[in-house]
Amino acid sequence: MRLSKCLQETKPYLFVELNRKRAELEARGIDVVTLSIGDPDGATPQFIVDAMKEAVANPAYQHYPAYAGSPEFRTAAAGYLKNRFGVDVDPMGEVLALIGSKEGLVHLGNAFIDEGEYALVPSIGYPAYSAAATLRNAHIYLMPTTPENGYLADFSHVPEEVVAKTKIMFLGYPNNPTGACAPESYFDEAIAFCRENDILLAHDNAYADISYDGYRPPALLQRPGAREVGIEFFSLSKGYNMTGWRIAFAAGNATAIKALGTVKNNLDSGVFNAVQQAGIAALTSDQSTVRSQCAIYQRRRDVLVPALNDMGLACEAPKATIYVWARIPEGYTSMQFADFLLNEAHVAVTPGSGYGADGEGFIRISLTVTDDRLEEAIQRMRAVL
Ligand SMILES: *Cc1c(COP(=O)(O)O)cnc(C)c1O
Repeated sequence: MRLSKCLQETKPYLFVELNRKRAELEARGIDVVTLSIGDPDGATPQFIVDAMKEAVANPAYQHYPAYAGSPEFRTAAAGYLKNRFGVDVDPMGEVLALIGSKEGLVHLGNAFIDEGEYALVPSIGYPAYSAAATLRNAHIYLMPTTPENGYLADFSHVPEEVVAKTKIMFLGYPNNPTGACAPESYFDEAIAFCRENDILLAHDNAYADISYDGYRPPALLQRPGAREVGIEFFSLSKGYNMTGWRIAFAAGNATAIKALGTVKNNLDSGVFNAVQQAGIAALTSDQSTVRSQCAIYQRRRDVLVPALNDMGLACEAPKATIYVWARIPEGYTSMQFADFLLNEAHVAVTPGSGYGADGEGFIRISLTVTDDRLEEAIQRMRAVL
């Protein structure tokens, strides 16, 4: 058997290797506190589960779904964008249901990038952005993303010859893994850059609703001109504790939405209609479950951040996301430090280098365990540091 060139060069997904090491310890009977996974610990709100239960028993929802998502789901998604951001989109032409936003982000590559071309991706970022290019035998160009630039990926110094071959620029704020949030002016600059260079701007807004201290993250689509060059990805995974359900949507430029839809109707058959009904319940709800979920994360954040700073792991309190991005002590690589915490404290965190070389020197810690387990993790880390 001969694997494709791109697959031979693709590294295994970061979390696969980390999960293996953790599973090995757990198989030996060791209790590990897992702060390495970006998966909410809370249950999906009951009203969403109930909507699914009812839908799954209805024969009308048991057939192949409409490829782009049911008109009702797309209308609910458009309604959410209107209520949350004041953005008007046409549910039929400017919204597409996705089997999770990871699916949509990677398949966007199939719609726009050919072999030898480029995607611009942040030098610290969610691995799916790179996969959109590398799985197409295309190149990635890493935009510097550093503490000095506030983790706002710098697209202003991309070499001209790269820009000329670039099809998509990926950004994602509020950011996984750094927790950084982008001001609206940054989106405006990105829109201007993409318009000038005929590049599709893909914004991943998975944490739009997971925010603290009264901060409300903006949408790219709120900005003037966004719809001419942009497509934005919204996920139901984080806000509604629905990671396992696989539902999200893209909205924005009609040509981009149509192109991604064409890729998808050639390779998948859409989101299970019953899951779309559950998604409608979530998107049209009063959003009170999202707010109570944020209050839980904020409380954990406010316990964890001072404790980490006390231990010498410098970090700021993020205004959004479910992650704390902390500096590690001198003398370790972030992989070595993550291994040290796993083996000595039995606490699993994610090494920053897993998100790109510029993540070296940091670890990402998730707020997705109960308060008790978080306290336990803090005590264990204190004991070994
Ligand atoms: C969790 C996450 C997503 C959401 O992925 P789904 O496929 O919708 O579950 C997208 N982008 C980032 C940065 C994430 O952390």
